[in-house]
This record gives sequence, C-alpha cells and structure tokens, in this order.
Amino acid sequence: MEEVFEKIKSDLSMKEVAAHYGLVIDRGGMACCPFHEDKTPSMKVYEDHYHCFGCGEHGDATSYVARMFGLRQIDAARKLSEDFGLRLFEDRGFAVPVSRAKSESQVYREWLKKSTETVKNYYNLLKEWKAKYAPHDHYTEPHKLFIESITKMSYVEYIGDILKFGKDEDRKDLYHNGKDIIDKMQERLTLAKGTVTVSRNAL
Ligand SMILES: [Zn+2]
Repeated sequence: MEEVFEKIKSDLSMKEVAAHYGLVIDRGGMACCPFHEDKTPSMKVYEDHYHCFGCGEHGDATSYVARMFGLRQIDAARKLSEDFGLRLFEDRGFAVPVSRAKSESQVYREWLKKSTETVKNYYNLLKEWKAKYAPHDHYTEPHKLFIESITKMSYVEYIGDILKFGKDEDRKDLYHNGKDIIDKMQERLTLAKGTVTVSRNAL
C-alpha cells in the first residue's frame, strides 16, 4: 500500500490538492488554516506538505484530506485517487495499458507539472543571462542574451504565475489555447543547452 501514498506524492502537489478542496492560497503560499479559528493566514502550503504556525497542524496531501474529511489515511488516499482520477485502487488484472488508461485530467495534470518546470527553468535561465551578460558600459552593443532576458522575463513570470497560482479556468485556457507558448520555451531551453555545449567544445 505504501506505493499508493508514494504515487499520490509524486502525482499531486500539496497546493493543487489544498486548492481543489477549497483552500485559498496567496502568492506567498500562505492560507487561513481550516483546522483552527484563523483570521490571518498562518498556514504555509509548500509543494509537498503544509504547516500551520498557529495550531501546529502539519502533514502531506493525504493527511490533509484525512483531517479535512475525518477519514483514515487509506480512505483519504482513495478519495484523492477518485477525485483526481489517479486510478490507484483499480484491479490491476483488468488494467488497460498505461498510455490508454490516462484520463483527460491526468494528461492535463502531467502537462501542468511539466509546463511549470519548463517555465521555471526558462525564467531562471533568463535571470542568469540578465546578470551574466549585463552591459558594462553604454558604448558597447548589449549582448543578445541580455536583451532576450530583459524583454522576456516579465512575460515568462506572468505565465509562471498562471501555472502556479492562477485560477483553474486560466490554467485550462492556457492548456487548450496556449500550449505552443510553453513548447516554444522548451525549444528555447533545448537550443540554449546546445549552445552551451557547443561553446564548451569550442574552448
Ligand atoms: Zn492551524
């Protein structure tokens, strides 16, 4: 049964689980704790766990659901599996091949996870370039990677915000209509990696 809990950990982020069950999380990852009378947000929601600085309650996604709905851990896992379409409790004897078994929501969640990673990586790369290639004086032409960083950073940050903190409808909109935005970032990252390798070889 341990693998069920592991699978939940790897497939679902604490934030999406808490948000799914109605917790309002601010940009700093703080929320009003649902487990005690909390007027100012004192619960911090991390990627894989939560901790309330008011009442000391803490745990992972499964324990959050267990506490929230008064369930045993295993039933909380069952609920998560059902609510997020993870199919963790299905009889494996009847399981269809994994690729076909993927539900639409599972494909979406995987896309969301991968895209968040892509956008984060591209943003970090831009940040690195911004510092590394900043012009030293006003006379030389700015480096093209520096220009890319200052022209793209706010937009990339904006997309990252939608993926991480946005309303579900905005994320879904990006999923249905803006996939190529993320694909382009991924292409750019791959290309950038290639460039680095080439310049290393050239040395
Ligand atoms: Zn609390």
